[in-house]
Amino acid sequence: MIKHLTFAFVLSACSIALAQAAEDAPAARTFHFGPLQVTALHDKTNDIPDDGKVFGANVGPEAVAGVLAAAGAPTDKVSLDVDALLVQDGKKTILIDTGLGPNVQGLLLQSLAQAGVAPEQITDVLITHVHGDHIGGLVTAQGTQAFPKAVVKISKPDWQWLQGQANMAALIKVITPQVKTFAPGDKVAPGINSVPLKGHTPGHVGYQIVSGQSRLLDVGDLVHSSIVSLAQPEWAITFDDDRDEGIATRRAELKKLADSHETIFAPHFPFPGIGQIQAEGDHFIWVPAK
Ligand SMILES: [Zn+2]
Repeated sequence: MIKHLTFAFVLSACSIALAQAAEDAPAARTFHFGPLQVTALHDKTNDIPDDGKVFGANVGPEAVAGVLAAAGAPTDKVSLDVDALLVQDGKKTILIDTGLGPNVQGLLLQSLAQAGVAPEQITDVLITHVHGDHIGGLVTAQGTQAFPKAVVKISKPDWQWLQGQANMAALIKVITPQVKTFAPGDKVAPGINSVPLKGHTPGHVGYQIVSGQSRLLDVGDLVHSSIVSLAQPEWAITFDDDRDEGIATRRAELKKLADSHETIFAPHFPFPGIGQIQAEGDHFIWVPAK
């Protein structure tokens, strides 16, 4: 049950978007959220082999396969979408995360075009954290700024951490003139606050969007798989920089979200990644928005 969000979208556009997502093609799906319009934008679908290297690093692939089988999913892989969120309030056109980038088959710019928005119209880019599947799309295939009119907001701890990553040197050079840092917890735009979510990267944040009585939280990489991360939030994921802190944050935040019934956007859940967390016994399940 979605309490805080009014969903209204053009049915024909919706069915086209769903069909395209199944083939890993560009997709955009818009929800009206108080006076705001939020649009999920598809970038890519990635399959992570169930080999114990990423999911369930502390329990092994057989345990992960058991959880996948119980959910009726293939057991040899964990399928993760990479999506981003567009927020439009009539004045600002804000993009939260940018996908992998066109050089690794990211489709975000095509999805943005489906939403009727040109890259030059983006006023602010908010980054949840500086992993490649969230910042790769800050540059074009030609290596120029993908959103040339935008200020790019990155938490100070993550921006500092990124400076030490030699393989990101070219991207850092291109985006540096656009970057404005903030402290996790700061307000970053009208009606949008950053929310520290510790464990994934040094400055990983979610973004709390408030519109009238409605609230929506972009959870960043608090969770990855809509199946495994919710069924077993205490299983380590190697993507977390500090695995123990990641587990503690995941458990605590999922409990809060299940209690509040707050609507979330989860960039790695199945497109469009908007819905709610529901408690079920000692774990959680995903309730996608209809
Ligand atoms: Zn990610």
